[in-house]
Amino acid sequence: MMKKVNKVLIVGGGTAGWITAAKLAKNLQADSSDGVEVTLVESPDIPTIGVGEGTWPTMRKTLLELGINEGEFMAYCQATFKQGTKFVNWKKEPGDKAAHTYYHMFSSIFDPSDFNLAPYWLAGIAGENTTFATAVSAQGNTCDLGCAPKKITDRPFDGVLSYAYHLDAGKFAEFLTQFATEKLGVKLIKANATQVHLTENGDIKGISVDRNEQGERESSENMVLEADLFVDCTGFRSLLLGESLNVSFKSVADTLLTDTAIAIQVPYESEDAPIPCQTNSIAQESGWIWDISLFNRRGTGHVFSSNHMHPDEAESVLRKHIGPVAKELESRTIKMNIGYREKFWEKNCVAVGLSAAFVEPLEASAIFLIEAAGNMLVDMFPKTRDAMDYAAQRYNQSFLYRWEKTIEFIKLHYYLSQRESKFWQDNKADETVPEVLRERVAHWRTHPVSKYEFDNVFEPFPHESYQYVIYGMGIHENGRFSRQHLSDQNKAMEYFKRVRQATELINKDLPQHRELLKKAYQYG
Ligand code: FAD
Repeated sequence: MMKKVNKVLIVGGGTAGWITAAKLAKNLQADSSDGVEVTLVESPDIPTIGVGEGTWPTMRKTLLELGINEGEFMAYCQATFKQGTKFVNWKKEPGDKAAHTYYHMFSSIFDPSDFNLAPYWLAGIAGENTTFATAVSAQGNTCDLGCAPKKITDRPFDGVLSYAYHLDAGKFAEFLTQFATEKLGVKLIKANATQVHLTENGDIKGISVDRNEQGERESSENMVLEADLFVDCTGFRSLLLGESLNVSFKSVADTLLTDTAIAIQVPYESEDAPIPCQTNSIAQESGWIWDISLFNRRGTGHVFSSNHMHPDEAESVLRKHIGPVAKELESRTIKMNIGYREKFWEKNCVAVGLSAAFVEPLEASAIFLIEAAGNMLVDMFPKTRDAMDYAAQRYNQSFLYRWEKTIEFIKLHYYLSQRESKFWQDNKADETVPEVLRERVAHWRTHPVSKYEFDNVFEPFPHESYQYVIYGMGIHENGRFSRQHLSDQNKAMEYFKRVRQATELINKDLPQHRELLKKAYQYG
């Protein structure tokens, strides 16, 4: 008889554990005999990482599909809307003039796969001083005006412009815990996993825990939780996949040079201070600072390379960014292990979240990749143990691609910079840049980015994202572009005009971000 896969045990209750649990329970936990039972074991002693405040627009779909109420979610998690990222001083050190900034937005008015406006923008057809983001999207202007991406009358999860959320990561894990246990029937056991037991063929047979379902301490020998499929969501420790199944970790510290983050939460100066509707990412001498506005506070952090800057100095840089109020605020230092496991799914164990991989949070890609992992697990869920190896092979291939592309995309931001300090120079040294990225960048210096370079449907960063970043960073300056790409100038002019009109129209009607949040959501 083929061994059925009916029981899933997730170890770890951070964002990864709860998103995976909720997606599996919602989609697979049917009443029929084929239904899958989902249990999550969460340590009462080990805290979650507690950072991870930026998401992608995919989060709207995740929440909607789970049946979550957007208003309740936002109020509980002190969430705000995010329309993209504003990069400040990434291209050059700040000079005497205003800082150099550019936007990586979530939405453009026209899909570049249908008609690519980039070559026309490069030829100056959008107007001499029009940035790429302004030429193709209304959203940078929306952010500059401090407006929300939607009107008060828009339906939940729907906006005039695409959006994601900024959220309080700790609250989000709590919210999902409540939702998944109460509404989706996920069983929660508050205990520490103390030992992993393997079968003769190397599968995981069970996990010893130190407390029973009522939370009472018991000898681990008596408490072994068995399952057919195990999901490792134990964070950086990777207790199942890394420590027990010995799947090795491939460090990419030689490509992405940052290794530490210092985070400080900052109160608003007043109750009606404006709430920026984008993540601000401000380049520094040996890294960058994130500045994210939630409803009740800002989340800030300095991501840097400890090989280039002492942590004390990095903390001073962050405190200076925050201003005088920083004196009274506590900081938290997080060491970051940058890289990924050689396999994400081995035997009957899948790792999701930090236990699988981590790259620095420049493009807030981690939670997006957790959502993607949950989706693929649901879609390819093996009904029997025999079917598992094929699913694992596809999964490993897919996620290796996604992580490698994410690493490349993050590196792109550093590689194109003209900043001069040692950290930035080291980031441009050939041996730190993946060869494929060097080739692509060399091509893009004289050719527009083409849709044919993005033919994998699971490309984490699409064509548009690359355009926002490379043209924001000025890759085209001094480049000579052939005119072969300018076959329909009238259409391009018409499209640029329509973007300008849409920008004016849209932004006339959109409310201020804080105003909308106050009126539409019941913040407690
Ligand atoms: P964790 O939150 O560490 O959770 C691990 C869980 O495992 C905990 O519940 C713990 O109790 C449990 N556990 C551990 N050991 C045991 C055991 N023995 N028994 C039982 N339970 C155990 N991502 C984004 O998408 N956007 C961002 O803006 C972003 N910013 C970030 C900034 C920084 C500085 C860092 C470091 C990360 C950031 N991330 C971001 C990544 C994001 O925080 C994580 O990917 C996400 O929170 C998932 O974490 P996790 O659930 O895998 O791990």
